[in-house]
Amino acid sequence: MDEARIRKLLEAHRRELAEELGRLTEVPRDPPAAVSFGKRIGDGTTEAVERIATTAAARSLWAKAQEVDRALAKLAERTYGICDGCGKPIPHARLEAMPWAVLCVACSAAKR
Ligand SMILES: [Zn+2]
Repeated sequence: MDEARIRKLLEAHRRELAEELGRLTEVPRDPPAAVSFGKRIGDGTTEAVERIATTAAARSLWAKAQEVDRALAKLAERTYGICDGCGKPIPHARLEAMPWAVLCVACSAAKR
């Protein structure tokens, strides 16, 4: 297994996630006065829904970043490619598709 290549892949993916997370959280907000003045009631609702969607997206990005962190830690502690759930090797095809996978398919499905 080419550890340096995997590390590079993981670090690049982590950077992407951090950038995306940064974009999500620095959305410019209207001043409160502009929202309540001269707008229909529906606008506030749409905004609230968008905020929830952003939070959910941010939470999912954060979870992914945590997974990449865990994969990097596993690389360092030489348990990379071993499932965190059952201790069995993670199939190579899964690691090829998802180098940041820290659980095998069965454990990942059980977690959901
Ligand atoms: Zn497992």
